[in-house]
Amino acid sequence: QPAAKLAGTLTTCPYCGVGCGVRATVNSDGQVDIAGDETHASNLGRLCVKGSALGETVALDGRLLYPKIRSDDCQELQPVSWDTALDKVAHGFRRIIEQHGPNAVALYVSGQLLTEDYYVANKLMKGYIGSANIDTNSRLCMSSAVAGHKRAFGADLVPVCYEDLELADLVVLVGSNTAWCHPILFQRIAKIRETRPQMKLVVIDPRRTATCELADLHLPLKAGSDVWLFNGLFSFLAGNGAVDEDFVAEHTNGMTTALEVAETDCADLAAVANICKLDPQDLRTFYQWFADNQKVVTAFSQGVNQSSAGTDKVNSIINCHLLTGRIGKPGMGPFSITGQPNAMGGREVGGLANMLAAHMELDNPQHRQTVQTFWQSPRMAERPGLKAVDLFQAIEAGRVKAVWIMATNPVVSLPDADQVQRALKKCELVVISDIIEKTDTNAFAHVLLPALGWGEKDGTVTSSERCISRQRAFLPAPGEARADWRIICQVAQRMGYDGFDFASAHQVFDEHAGLSTYRNGVDGGPHRVFNLSGLRGMDQARFDAMQPVQWPLLSDAGEEQRGTARLFADGRFAHADGRARFVATVPRAPQHATDGDYPLSLNTGRVRDQWHTMTRTGKSPRLADHVPESFIDMHPQDALLYGVRAGMLARVSSRWGEMVARVQHGGGIARGSLFVPIHWNGQSASDARVGALVNPVVDPVSGEPEFKHTPVRIEEF
Ligand code: SF4
Repeated sequence: QPAAKLAGTLTTCPYCGVGCGVRATVNSDGQVDIAGDETHASNLGRLCVKGSALGETVALDGRLLYPKIRSDDCQELQPVSWDTALDKVAHGFRRIIEQHGPNAVALYVSGQLLTEDYYVANKLMKGYIGSANIDTNSRLCMSSAVAGHKRAFGADLVPVCYEDLELADLVVLVGSNTAWCHPILFQRIAKIRETRPQMKLVVIDPRRTATCELADLHLPLKAGSDVWLFNGLFSFLAGNGAVDEDFVAEHTNGMTTALEVAETDCADLAAVANICKLDPQDLRTFYQWFADNQKVVTAFSQGVNQSSAGTDKVNSIINCHLLTGRIGKPGMGPFSITGQPNAMGGREVGGLANMLAAHMELDNPQHRQTVQTFWQSPRMAERPGLKAVDLFQAIEAGRVKAVWIMATNPVVSLPDADQVQRALKKCELVVISDIIEKTDTNAFAHVLLPALGWGEKDGTVTSSERCISRQRAFLPAPGEARADWRIICQVAQRMGYDGFDFASAHQVFDEHAGLSTYRNGVDGGPHRVFNLSGLRGMDQARFDAMQPVQWPLLSDAGEEQRGTARLFADGRFAHADGRARFVATVPRAPQHATDGDYPLSLNTGRVRDQWHTMTRTGKSPRLADHVPESFIDMHPQDALLYGVRAGMLARVSSRWGEMVARVQHGGGIARGSLFVPIHWNGQSASDARVGALVNPVVDPVSGEPEFKHTPVRIEEF
């Protein structure tokens, strides 16, 4: 590596959607020192404990370093050359497409991929293979927010920026343990409250999490009752003089219908409090604070999105901001905080099975034409593909016969995870690109392809506030590992497709920026949609020097250009008529109710110091110290009722599967619920994959699974 890199490389944290800037320095002994990038506006030098431990996670133990193939007559994966592995993938996909059509193959990708990886994967699948069977693990965390944005704004647009959390007089955190899951955002809120103690913080979460320690008000609502709560707020605002009549009249449609629906069940505050299991006075306090404060940011995360009513929950929140005109101005707006480092980047390039690149839609013929013309591709998928849960069900049913999984571990992370095992066992061809050799999912691979990891790969990611930030390589490629975008292009070329002759990540990025510009030229309204015009035409040196910028970025204003902090300042939205939409949201309970056999509601989520299925954070002893093993958190009275006690191993079962972990108390959990973390996998002595229990129920609009509620029972192990 060049000597300059030893002085420190500026890159971006690969964990959560905050997208903190990192300064990584390789010491002469090969160790990597990590510090916060003080020039990065997202974190200004701060890092949370996960980010600061990144240097402990880059060692090569457990890495997949060489391509491997499982031959028909051998159960063991054997190392092979790249040529052999790539040929096997290309020939396998081509054969199945020829025999069964393009929808018999699929890609399942990840918010861990860089935007450039995502871009070429989508180009291959949608523009060349001609199927939209490419979905991503981002489906599991933020697709309800995407769907809610599209319904309300006309496109998947996040209106606000992190600074708005500091400018607000009232911050409402809904379904978000921000202190643990987006720690630097939480630190920013905590810091600003030192200088602005009048700023109020409300946390809406069934659990009393670490985030509540800073809250002026915690509303421990009943799991799944969010739409009642926000419909009630909508009614309250309408009845208490908080409507911005001019904004509603000039910039929105649908308010009357949405209000009628909200008032049907939620006009009576006491009734809403009863349904949500909240103290009516606390609920009134929240409603009054929301009515009284002009500068309100409502930030939401997985507690809202991961629900069979997730999209309606998102729209019930957005409705309240549209009604009060609190959007598009400093210190106000609805804010989806994304889970993964590049959930947003994936959305930009059409990473979901129902989207096209540059925020275009698969079910829009003009959009399909625009993308195909730009790509000059031989075909274009004509209808949305299979979303994550449906995809693995189609594999088990034999409709999808080949799947290429990249940078994700669905045997641990998907709902009904045992079904994913059954599906992969039946699948004719399972290709997996990963950085780790042994995972629960890799056990089913016919072909394993070694990918570059954080610190080794180059490209871009986009944070929750639309900030595009560089990930830069500062370590050599280990073994024979290659960048994901390069592996995808090499398979595409072997399948006989042109359009994949990229020589570097920056060339992929340039095409991506070019498509956004082309799209805006075709359908107009560059201020209303995704636009990277200002980032076109960068050479390698400019790409290497690229500073974090927030899209849309309309023109090249030089190195100081920082993009667009917030959207909709002019009150124009991305629907064709420029107006936002209120969405009538009818409240509904989680799909599967608890009953006598399964009397408890299982909630899942993260712990502070681990990430996803622990393939990286699991390498750091100090991160493991925080929570050394999986657990079942429950209320002490429920433990008494069900005959288990703290410290005891217990089995939790649902209609879909079971797992074993140790019981504990103290997680601020309400009666009738259990909380189990998502991170632990089946590689340990006892199978602690909570995904095996989770019901495969999804939101009908977004396809996002209901991870926050599954009926379960618990018993002594
Ligand atoms: Fe990384 Fe998120 Fe922590 Fe920032 S807050 S250092 S992005 S894990």
